Amino acid sequence: MPEVVIIGAGFIGMSFALAAHGQGFDVEVYDKAAAPVLPETETSQVIAVNPSSAEFLEEIGVWNRIPDRFVTRYDQMSVFDGQGTGSIAFTAEEGGLPCLGYIVDQVALRVAMTECALGQGLKVNWTKTADIDGLERDLLVAADGAHSATREKLGLKKMGYSYDQSATVCVAQFGQESSEEERKQAYQWFRETGPLALLPLSDRGKFAVVWSSSEDMASIDETAFISALEASTEDKLGPVLGVSPRHSFPLIQQQAWRYVAEGAVLLGDAAHAIHPLAGQGANLGFADASCLITELCAARLEGRGIGDLGVLKRYEQQRKRENHLAGLAMEGFHRLFTSDSGLVGLFRSRGLRLVNENKTLKRLAISVAAGRV
Ligand SMILES: Cc1cc2nc3c(=O)[nH]c(=O)nc-3n(C[C@H](O)[C@H](O)[C@H](O)COP(=O)(O)OP(=O)(O)OC[C@H]3O[C@@H](n4cnc5c(N)ncnc54)[C@H](O)[C@@H]3O)c2cc1C
Repeated sequence: MPEVVIIGAGFIGMSFALAAHGQGFDVEVYDKAAAPVLPETETSQVIAVNPSSAEFLEEIGVWNRIPDRFVTRYDQMSVFDGQGTGSIAFTAEEGGLPCLGYIVDQVALRVAMTECALGQGLKVNWTKTADIDGLERDLLVAADGAHSATREKLGLKKMGYSYDQSATVCVAQFGQESSEEERKQAYQWFRETGPLALLPLSDRGKFAVVWSSSEDMASIDETAFISALEASTEDKLGPVLGVSPRHSFPLIQQQAWRYVAEGAVLLGDAAHAIHPLAGQGANLGFADASCLITELCAARLEGRGIGDLGVLKRYEQQRKRENHLAGLAMEGFHRLFTSDSGLVGLFRSRGLRLVNENKTLKRLAISVAAGRV
């Protein structure tokens, strides 16, 4: 009988599985989907990984297995109020950090995790779900994403709502010649229909586009999409020379009321799903995984069971507060930047200018985004 059974081999379930296996726990993972396969070139499905998450991924042996072409370090993030005059630029130097983070291909990251699991003899059952009723284990970990069936079966309730928005993602090739420094920049425009992020990829001039919008940006024709992209990026990166096929994801805000039950725990998006405007969802999930493994190791030292509700509550107490705060912050940003009120617009522009000019506030914002607070 495995000590820990994990439902869901997404980034968060797998990172926790590797961490737990590395600490000597007997772990088994189930995922209803097939094992990921390495793409030939960069895809539009990327995540911004903050420095704290990168350190965690390094500790569990994953980071150095991701091929270089699927990881792009970025040192600056420029944010523009697309409806006003405000703008702000965050740099790694101002935050006292070696970099702001990394843009990582999601599939390449999952392949690296799968290879690690294989190399370490960690059992992952692909294309299989587990019937949790008849499952023998000390601890059940639900890491099966925002629509977690395991969470429902455990009777752990959630609150949430849909943003009337979806995120359209693709890769875009921009035409402007850029220096080595400029290539390490990410961009974000807050428009009244939602935020548009451009995340640098390793090929010169290529960016992953994440466009959250109440308008349907995935099915408008390609020429109209390119024109809209050029207009929204205000000629900062030159003309758009081409875009890859677009994919779209409906956006929700969701938080579980409780993360734990006797012998069971929620991890990652199964516990909390937030708007991707600040690229924090998976980073919060990695922090969950790191916190849970710390508490399980502490329980073992104390001679307590790893499914003990008191032990699991220590994890819940630490993570729920931070995840709820992140959810509230995303909601605040979303409302602030989608409001068309003139007064809110004035406040927004002044606020951006204030933070931009205040070193302490800026450093704090950078530290939070980097996972250092
Ligand atoms: C457009 C967009 C951009 C984003 N950008 C960023 C970013 O830049 N940075 C960031 O930190 N976050 C970002 N996020 C958030 C991030 O993608 C999620 O937080 C992250 O994917 C959550 O990982 P997870 O492992 O918890 O869940 P998932 O990735 O949803 O994985 C769940 C896994 O469980 C499996 N599963 C589901 N049901 C079952 C079942 N019944 N039995 C077995 N297996 C099951 C699925 O097959 C899947 O493999 C973004 C999200 C979106 C939508």
